[in-house]
Amino acid sequence: MSYFCKDCSYRGNKSGQDGACPACGSFNISRQAARAQSTPKYNRLRIVLLIGLWGYLIGLILWKLNP
Ligand SMILES: [Zn+2]
Repeated sequence: MSYFCKDCSYRGNKSGQDGACPACGSFNISRQAARAQSTPKYNRLRIVLLIGLWGYLIGLILWKLNP
């Protein structure tokens, strides 16, 4: 899990006491693990959709060429 401080732009795997920034002590800090995990699943779905669309187009062209 990685943390990002919005006040001093600290970036690291550790947070200070009570979830505060270890560099400046601010509580304006956010975790970035959930956002990084959701991205590959979305990209995989887009690739599957793209391959399916291309397969449909190629099938349509082959069906038109061979009556
Ligand atoms: Zn900070």
